[in-house]
Amino acid sequence: MSYVNMEAILGDARKNHYAVGAFNIVNYLTAKAAVEAAEELGQPIIIQTSVKTVKAFGIKEMMSFLKPIAENATVNVAIHLDHSTDVEFTKACIDGGWSSVMYDGSQLTLEENIKNTKEIVTYAKNKKVTVEGELGAIVGVEDDIVVIAGNSAHARPEDCHIFLKETGIDAFAPAVGTAHGVYTGEINIDYDLFDEINQFSSCPLVLHGGTGLTDEMFHKLIALGASKVNISTAIKIAYCQGMVTYTKMNPDQNDPLKLDAFTKEGLKKVVKQHIQFFSLRD
Ligand SMILES: [Zn+2]
Repeated sequence: MSYVNMEAILGDARKNHYAVGAFNIVNYLTAKAAVEAAEELGQPIIIQTSVKTVKAFGIKEMMSFLKPIAENATVNVAIHLDHSTDVEFTKACIDGGWSSVMYDGSQLTLEENIKNTKEIVTYAKNKKVTVEGELGAIVGVEDDIVVIAGNSAHARPEDCHIFLKETGIDAFAPAVGTAHGVYTGEINIDYDLFDEINQFSSCPLVLHGGTGLTDEMFHKLIALGASKVNISTAIKIAYCQGMVTYTKMNPDQNDPLKLDAFTKEGLKKVVKQHIQFFSLRD
């Protein structure tokens, strides 16, 4: 089976100290490019969809073209829902065929976050779907969720203990200072906090806001235990810039397939660079 949930993929990554890239795709072309890149490297991959993207296509329509890509792949592929703050929408995606979902209750109180995440975990388990949870706030703009720097809160270890124990999630994203989108100021990552949480965490840790971190930062966080690294902005840039570059180079060319082929190559290059870097063992 090449279409899997995150359990097998992240379990191996955690055990062997590497990270798996989770790339935010926006359509068929970006999904196909990401999976082909992983296939050419013989590495597993997570393709993830933001709520906004799923709503633009419709749950059924989106899964109808994503699933065959995953099922026909020569490597393990998980299809994951990124940052869903809506319990009912998350359940609809579980029913719709996603093999993994993130329920993001980080804007709620700890109690409410636990209650909703637990509800999703119970619902997902019956369908062998894995669940990612988040604690603390990751600053920046992700989808339509805006978190301002001043409001950002690092996850507190004592809360993490309770959250992990109560919810039984499969992957955990604690806020440790990374940001969504393009970094504007100084990046302040609390490595000690990340290390501390990983030591007691029952499940693999997830790093959000990967675009813009330096190689050194990635290396340090992966060495400390990050098993899933989310890459969204770099994909958006590669996609849009690929189209711009091709159009500038070929202003009179009107063959969409050639435009797609050129853009896809650029996307594959970016995905490959990330996968190769994340899979470097110590
Ligand atoms: Zn995120």
